[in-house]
Amino acid sequence: MTTLDDLPLRDDLRGRSPYGAPQVEVPVRLNTNENSYPVPESVVAAVGRAVQAELRDLNRYPDREAAALRADLAEYLGHGLRAEQVWAANGSNEIQQQLLQAFGGPGRTALGFTPGYSMHPLLALGTGTTWVDGRRGADFGLTAEHAVAQVREHRPDVVFLCSPNNPTGTALEPAVITAVLAEAPGMVVIDEAYAEFARPGTPSALSVLPGHPRLVVTRTMSKAFAFAGGRLGYLAADPAVVAAVHLVRLPYHLSALTQAAARAALAHRDTLLATVEAIKQERDRIVAELRRRGLTVAASDANFVLFETGGDQREPWRILLERGVLIRDVGLAGWLRVTAGTPAETDAFLSAIDAWLERKA
Ligand SMILES: *Cc1c(COP(=O)(O)O)cnc(C)c1O
Repeated sequence: MTTLDDLPLRDDLRGRSPYGAPQVEVPVRLNTNENSYPVPESVVAAVGRAVQAELRDLNRYPDREAAALRADLAEYLGHGLRAEQVWAANGSNEIQQQLLQAFGGPGRTALGFTPGYSMHPLLALGTGTTWVDGRRGADFGLTAEHAVAQVREHRPDVVFLCSPNNPTGTALEPAVITAVLAEAPGMVVIDEAYAEFARPGTPSALSVLPGHPRLVVTRTMSKAFAFAGGRLGYLAADPAVVAAVHLVRLPYHLSALTQAAARAALAHRDTLLATVEAIKQERDRIVAELRRRGLTVAASDANFVLFETGGDQREPWRILLERGVLIRDVGLAGWLRVTAGTPAETDAFLSAIDAWLERKA
């Protein structure tokens, strides 16, 4: 059998593992921060009509500028943003890959703060960008001073900040973003995949965009919009940044079906985003219930919760899976992450947690 070692693979890809969150069929899937609520029937019908209307024209390439979709996304974001400041792709992962293709690459570096989103270093690897693993405080916090000191030390071409941060869940103080922007010699990317779930009073980095052409805010429809399968991510930035990603994007990268489906979903955003409040309630309930059981829990502005298991986290992860509850081992010793979903899913998670705690006692 041919193995990877038999192929003339790039040296920097040898021995590396692909992204691989387990996709297991279990009753309670709380491991990839999807929205647990299925798309409501009214939106299913609207997306179906929008996709249907495109089918006859599939002999033609789609609008490679995705102009109508970008206008809709700009309108959704507010902050006075215009379509020229917005760019869309197949998930915010593709957006971030395009940013690294344009602003990173061989001979260049990207800095992120660990623990952070596991895809950022993988996207750096794929684009030949040297990844620098920055540090957070012992409580996973990141102060402006700590972040700025690391930017000063490494002089990265791209800085990734994730707010609310995955896997810890906590949003950044706006002062961290402005301090990093002031010090960074290159681009500063704020990954706001979970912005819609932030606790009240958490400002978006979108408010910092005016006057900061090296700032990029990335968003996604994968989480709050319950549209992970639709694959739609986007960015907001100076129009010059949008011009830069044009240099590296594949022509017609966003299919006509994706554009139509995303526009229909956006048109029904009130219905889709109605689940956000319910999910935030479950998130707060998980935080409170785990703390009531004496566990240490990170403050969460997202649709997931990171909690301390102590010891080997793989043991409780397995016990939960035996009970049909799949959560995420993010590779952080002594910690596990659980997605907030429906009330019934929280019930199942908490009773599995109790089974683990009983076994441990
Ligand atoms: C889930 C997630 C994304 C979403 O990626 P898509 O490609 O848009 O599905 C982006 N960033 C972070 C930090 C995430 O957790």
